[in-house]
Amino acid sequence: MPTLIERAEALRRIREEGGAPACLMCAVAARAVGEVHVVFEDDEMLAFLPRYVRCWGHVCVMPKVHVTSLREVSATVWGRTNALGHKAARVIETVARPRRCYLAATGSSAGELTQSSMHLHLHVIPVHDAEDRPASIFSWQEGVYVGAPDEWEALRATYVRAWRDDDARYGPA
Ligand SMILES: [Zn+2]
Repeated sequence: MPTLIERAEALRRIREEGGAPACLMCAVAARAVGEVHVVFEDDEMLAFLPRYVRCWGHVCVMPKVHVTSLREVSATVWGRTNALGHKAARVIETVARPRRCYLAATGSSAGELTQSSMHLHLHVIPVHDAEDRPASIFSWQEGVYVGAPDEWEALRATYVRAWRDDDARYGPA
């Protein structure tokens, strides 16, 4: 079972894993802040399992190009980010059978933070509890989940298999 840890402990671990990079998302793509659990990757895009999550099964989709506003991202790149988000949501619905799948481009409004980034990215989050609200899903006040290496790998492998099945059915995004 994934383990719930306190926000302060999560922030301590994140700092230990990579300090405070100029851009957290670029650092993830460059593997500069610890292991990356990749669900999908090509030259342009990365979909991965964030390692500190409120909801087990959360996927993050990001364009590799460093873009921090919707004015500067091309329609092509943002369209592909969303197409991959849609695919990730289908995969999550297939594998995890949540009550709901939240899709959100939140990001940081306060510069680079230890746990968030200005770099555009899309959260795809399975919600299992009828009492869950965005305010609790997008906050770490009630702690965050982390997995053991074998738990991360099992989840990743399950998503990768479902991703391939989805590609076969709907085509690649
Ligand atoms: Zn960046």
